[in-house]
Amino acid sequence: MKSAIYHGIRDLRIEEVPEPMPKPGQIKVKVKYCGICGSDLHEYLHGLFPQSPFGHEACGQIVEIGQGVSGFQKGDQVLAFQKGAYAEYLVLPQERVIKKPENMSWERAAVVEPLCGAAYAIERGGIQSGDTILITGAGPVGLMALLGLKAIGVKKIYITDISETRRKKAEEMGATLVLNPLTEKIPAKIKELSAGKGVDVAIEAVGIEATLKDCLASVRYQGKVIVQGIFTDRVPVHMLGFVTRETTMIGTNSINPSLAMSWIETQEIRPELIITKILPLDQISEGFELLSQKTKEQIKILIAP
Ligand SMILES: [Zn+2]
Repeated sequence: MKSAIYHGIRDLRIEEVPEPMPKPGQIKVKVKYCGICGSDLHEYLHGLFPQSPFGHEACGQIVEIGQGVSGFQKGDQVLAFQKGAYAEYLVLPQERVIKKPENMSWERAAVVEPLCGAAYAIERGGIQSGDTILITGAGPVGLMALLGLKAIGVKKIYITDISETRRKKAEEMGATLVLNPLTEKIPAKIKELSAGKGVDVAIEAVGIEATLKDCLASVRYQGKVIVQGIFTDRVPVHMLGFVTRETTMIGTNSINPSLAMSWIETQEIRPELIITKILPLDQISEGFELLSQKTKEQIKILIAP
């Protein structure tokens, strides 16, 4: 089968590899789509993580079942969350497979995983429907947070991005107000919008110094900053402000599939709106290069093996 193999920074090659076989407890899936995750992009540009998440946002159809697997059968359409999915087939333990509801489109199924990350962050952050929120960054992470917050009934959600495409998308997906950090001082604007108080919670969804600073400076006294961005560089933080304002900062890096699936079942949320392009496996490098561009015209690219 064809699989994208990581050979180093900015060096992905499509190679012929043996088709994997499911061991006991495992399921073999023919991959329909695998979304390019921000963490994959980070690895493409900067090197592999020790526990690699390379290509883990997959969906497809079950073609084979290992011994002892229960609750799934050949032909089932599923979501499959495990690295190695930039390939025609993926073999993974059944615990990492979720049945795709029949009425769910493949495009929606392909972006459930990032929504699961937002679900985890929102729950871990203890966000309440009455909270006011700032999200810095309207990429896939920020936009999924936006959808999740709307799903739990949050009314005031401000979101920032330097890219016009992404700001427009945030508007389309229901942000209360969209701000451009290149033309506006975000903390000052947030103070103005909250009678000088600051937001209850800020979600960092980029992974750079400027957005983290905007979050820290925009939350109220005893507010929370939830950090989801993948940072390449170490960043200096104004610790005196952090201490005197008694800020809580929480890092999150897990998923909550059951909460995300419940939102999809009960709310009219459309995570597939973040998809801006679908490319065949052969063109995976082009997908990564497009996502690397400074203009950030692309949001979520799916690979179709
Ligand atoms: Zn992901």
